[in-house]
Amino acid sequence: MPANDMSAIVSLCKRRGFIFQSSDIYGGLKGVYDYGPLGVELKNNVKSSWWRHMVYQRDDVEGLDAAIIAHRKLFQYSGHEDGFHDPLVECKKCHARMRQDKMADPTKCDECGSTELTPPRTFNLLFPVKAGPVGDDGEHNAYLRGETCQHIFANFKNVMDSTGRRPPFGIAQIGKAYRNEIIARNFIFRMREFEQLELEYFVKPGTDEDWFNHWREQSKAWWVSLGLADDHVKEEELAADDLPHYAKRTIDMEYKFVHGFDEIESINNRTDYDLGNHTKGQDEFPIHAKVRENKDSNTKMAVQDIETKEWYIPYVVEASFGLDRAVMAVLTEAYTEETLENGDTRTVLKFKPHLAPIKAAVIPLAKNKPELVELAKKVKDDLQRLGLGRVMLEMSGNVGKAYRKHDEVGTPVCITVDFDSLEDGAVTLRDRDTMQQQRLPIASLPAKLLEIVNT
Ligand code: ATP
Repeated sequence: MPANDMSAIVSLCKRRGFIFQSSDIYGGLKGVYDYGPLGVELKNNVKSSWWRHMVYQRDDVEGLDAAIIAHRKLFQYSGHEDGFHDPLVECKKCHARMRQDKMADPTKCDECGSTELTPPRTFNLLFPVKAGPVGDDGEHNAYLRGETCQHIFANFKNVMDSTGRRPPFGIAQIGKAYRNEIIARNFIFRMREFEQLELEYFVKPGTDEDWFNHWREQSKAWWVSLGLADDHVKEEELAADDLPHYAKRTIDMEYKFVHGFDEIESINNRTDYDLGNHTKGQDEFPIHAKVRENKDSNTKMAVQDIETKEWYIPYVVEASFGLDRAVMAVLTEAYTEETLENGDTRTVLKFKPHLAPIKAAVIPLAKNKPELVELAKKVKDDLQRLGLGRVMLEMSGNVGKAYRKHDEVGTPVCITVDFDSLEDGAVTLRDRDTMQQQRLPIASLPAKLLEIVNT
């Protein structure tokens, strides 16, 4: 059973070292979080799982890791400087600031219920920055990127030319994005600094609808592979007047968070909007979604059709999601409280093993017996060498406590090294979900752990 109380997850995340409020020692910075020792492992596991799925297991996607600071023109021609707004409303009574389209009732203040509200004004979400020695009164010349994909578009030709690719092919990227959200809320759901995993898939115009359907199916399969229940992930097609400024069609994938179904991923048909607006020589090819003249770009974002010899601007199908929302969904789904036969409650994070921050905990039965510790360390080192992720030497010396701790952080197996192990070369393996224990030869552990993590 996934969690139905967010506060239990938030407190577990702090207590066990998954997620901390950022700058907490100075009162915290809203919408900004730090990931602790287990959080960083969980995030890395989600990322590497996506990278395997997107790049390594396909033959049509390349990777990219571009800069976070972006030339101002990149976000001018992308349309974000003019169009990346949310409607900001302020309460005249308590001065709370709200995003109008997310208010419970747009006629009343969310905080105090007053009906005295300012008219909505547009609030741009980009973070302007001054790169280099720009004077105090000089204009900002750059932005922290508001979405990672603009650099994918800017590098389209670089990647195509350096790899010899032609559409259909994709570019995948993982990295930080920044949005000055009016209200940051729901823990790591809406943040001002977050991480995105974006795939931009370049196709010939006319094939875009088929590819859109391909990627929405891939997306659903990906979320289920993370352990999210099939009926906890649903599609929501956006109405024409809700579409982002760059999209012809958008389907949001929504997950059943504790606060209700909400967006985890966006599948967009961005047509030739991005490449068309960033390209040099716009008059040389038909562009469906041209919005502005581009006199600044020095690169043609066009491809020549091998058969017809015609030049065209590829259409783009995008699959874009936020890592932090993925982490929140995975935590929500995994969080389980069970009542044991003796009446005690056990908290378990039932992560899919490939996502678990710690793959196995090796526990010497007594921490003050050097021969036990030495054998446990050897078992740990041998398992660590498999490269499956973090294996931990658990030195608490209390097996019961270690089991409870590792249930709570989602470690799939605990391996206890006891005095018999010194004689028979076997250890006790305890399963997180069933709590069943079995005795296994040490020599069989690598194969066993491989089998567990790969299921
Ligand atoms: P929302 O409607 O929730 O503001 P959006 O439609 O603006 O989101 P997109 O621009 O489509 O979001 O971004 C793609 C993905 O990036 C989203 O599906 C979400 O997973 C993630 N994302 C967007 N904004 C944030 C944020 N402020 N904090 C965390 N993740 C975010």
